[in-house]
Amino acid sequence: MPVIEQARGDLYQFLERLDGSSLSGIQKCWGYQYLVLPKMKWILAIYDIPASTVLKWEQRVNRFLRSWLGAGHTLSKICLFSRDSPVALPIDSLVDTWKVEKCRLQQSYKYSPDDFIRSVAPKVRSGRVWNAEEVLEEAERDLVCESMLGMVQPGKRAGIGFGEWKKPWEKMNTEERKKAAIERVQENLNKERVVEYGSLELQSGWARWREDVLALDLSWNSLFKMGDSMVGFILRAVYGTLVTPSLAVKWDEAEDGMCKLCRTERGTLQHILSGCKVALEQGRYTWRHDKVLNQIQSQVAYHLDKRVNNPKRSVSLQSSTIGFVSAGAKYNLLIVQICWSPRGTSRQLIFDDDDDEEELRHPFPLRMSQEQTAIFVTIDCRGGLPHATNVW
Ligand SMILES: [Zn+2]
Repeated sequence: MPVIEQARGDLYQFLERLDGSSLSGIQKCWGYQYLVLPKMKWILAIYDIPASTVLKWEQRVNRFLRSWLGAGHTLSKICLFSRDSPVALPIDSLVDTWKVEKCRLQQSYKYSPDDFIRSVAPKVRSGRVWNAEEVLEEAERDLVCESMLGMVQPGKRAGIGFGEWKKPWEKMNTEERKKAAIERVQENLNKERVVEYGSLELQSGWARWREDVLALDLSWNSLFKMGDSMVGFILRAVYGTLVTPSLAVKWDEAEDGMCKLCRTERGTLQHILSGCKVALEQGRYTWRHDKVLNQIQSQVAYHLDKRVNNPKRSVSLQSSTIGFVSAGAKYNLLIVQICWSPRGTSRQLIFDDDDDEEELRHPFPLRMSQEQTAIFVTIDCRGGLPHATNVW
């Protein structure tokens, strides 16, 4: 079909142009998501493009995405478009977009204001393997079932009424139903991907520990802030495509697979990042912890200089003591005015290392009058790791 040929040509041309531009890798990915994909949506929806053809196009797209992200050419598309990975990227797959657009088209037939179209009930042609009508029905059935079931407790100790309230299906108007059904279709597509995690032994290692960590914010804003090399490193580290000695030994005969620092343990990612004794002795780990403390220090110093010790700032003191605050009541802790400054002449925070418990508890000497209320914040960093943060 010449239209499909033209669509393919256009898609490849967009990608080649993006690739050849002088933009950064993340900017190119943004270009795909917000310039190329919206252009393709209409074409994918209205033309009868077979699923196998879209899959072929997607393979080409993914090749570009992997290279722009610096994620390694072996990264599976299951990881690339995963929504529940700790490093979920805000990029949509071409095949998923095609499926969603087909469902949207089917929906427009189903809820058409034209009586004739509704009576004919046309079906979107999407091939034998995947049927838009069935998928849409399944999504709507899920929503109806959930609405009958009502709100369920999401966690063991969450309590009654905890969790996000969703409008039940029977109370939704047509527009809300259409939106909810499409969102459910996208959710179900993500769930289908979860089943495939087991097929990737190395790249889906994160599925075992994702419950224990906070997911990294990989919104476009933070992606641009991080830059290409950092994003590439994060993706490779999480998905196990980072070339470590233990991985390189599989194809490189000259490589012995041992850690280059200690020479006694295997050079796996875990060992290099948090298990090497030589790195611990050399202070590489404390350097990383100190970087965290530096971030805290810069924020504290900023607020001391700009906010707390600002003579122009006048705050009326409402109460010298903080009474009992019931759950849900709003209470602004910042009504107190504190004049304090970090010890020492430099902008560095000094964390005491001696046994003087009193000194350790109050790293910031305070100058304050009797009617002022103080909030003490202690960052206890004995052993290089801030293991306790107390507010009293
Ligand atoms: Zn080592």
